[in-house]
Amino acid sequence: MNSEDISKIKELLSVPQKIVIIPHKNPDGDAIGSTLGLWHYLKNNGQDATVISPNDAPKFLKWMPGSADILNFEAENSQAKKAITEATLIFTLDFNHLGRVGQMHSFLEEATATFIMIDHHQEPSDYALVTYSDVTMSSTCEMVYNFIAYLDDTSKITPEIANCLYTGIMTDTGSFKFSSTTSKTHKIVAELIDKGAENTRIHNLVYDTNSPSRLHLLGCALKNMVILEEFNTAYITLSQDELDTYKYQKGDTEGFVNYGLTLNGIRFAVIFIENKEEGIIKISFRSEGDFSVNEFARAYFHGGGHNNAAGGKSDLSLKETADYFVNLLPKHLKELTK
Ligand code: 5GP
Ligand code: MN
Repeated sequence: MNSEDISKIKELLSVPQKIVIIPHKNPDGDAIGSTLGLWHYLKNNGQDATVISPNDAPKFLKWMPGSADILNFEAENSQAKKAITEATLIFTLDFNHLGRVGQMHSFLEEATATFIMIDHHQEPSDYALVTYSDVTMSSTCEMVYNFIAYLDDTSKITPEIANCLYTGIMTDTGSFKFSSTTSKTHKIVAELIDKGAENTRIHNLVYDTNSPSRLHLLGCALKNMVILEEFNTAYITLSQDELDTYKYQKGDTEGFVNYGLTLNGIRFAVIFIENKEEGIIKISFRSEGDFSVNEFARAYFHGGGHNNAAGGKSDLSLKETADYFVNLLPKHLKELTK
């Protein structure tokens, strides 16, 4: 943020506001960690603040401090709409355009509040008074730490805030291994541990709470993996029937897509997941190196994200989607094999 933005934020927060903080639909660790981290900070500063999520968060994030206070737009619709209508200030966190909030989209467009965006995705839309956008950042949680630092308030980071921000940095960096992880990221993480982030406990709560059925679903996904060596590509499909067989619960498929990249030489990994209720195939893309999955997802699958991690969707059947995908690969042979 530049000094002008910092002054604007300081001025806005110098008076009581009715604040709503919003993560993207299907929130992940970074979306929930950043919104709750900011929520604790604003509340501790005497602000009236509410986190409203477009839909429910996965179970492996429900332990996070403040999680029980999140309003779910799908389940607590009238309360959530009222809060958006009455808000004077709306923070949107971890997404770059309002289409990423699903059903909430039209309500946000009608809201009279002042908007502030904090996000690390490419091509941010221009709807906020202050747009703190930085695509080089590991995570929105790292940016919320910086946001608090810009306001000269790192001394106000409580163990609750530290636990929330640590979680999002950890999940969005693949436990500190993606190329977006900088020495600055590690310095912030170190500081968060000093301020009370329980790093070992957080790893356990997020990664070591598998149900047997989730591991069986993973087994099914790995069995379904198709390896296309000539394109350095591996993809997985999961049908609704398979999800039902293994008692799929929200969040169960998180991280499955990354297994493709653990194969020697594979640079492009994809998972196609059928969602009969929404009538779509939800897709996650991951890459290693220069191949931009953000551009790929934008060009062919109504999606986007980052260079090495992106998502999208398809209205075709699972089989048709996979066939369509495989037929796109020859066009990208050079990029995938250079
Ligand atoms: P994931 O594959 O973990 O759902 O998402 C990877 C990245 O891509 C995240 O940064 C996420 O925000 C972004 N992303 C996932 N799905 C979509 C989508 O449908 N549209 C856009 N623009 N970004 C997406
Ligand atoms: Mn993020």
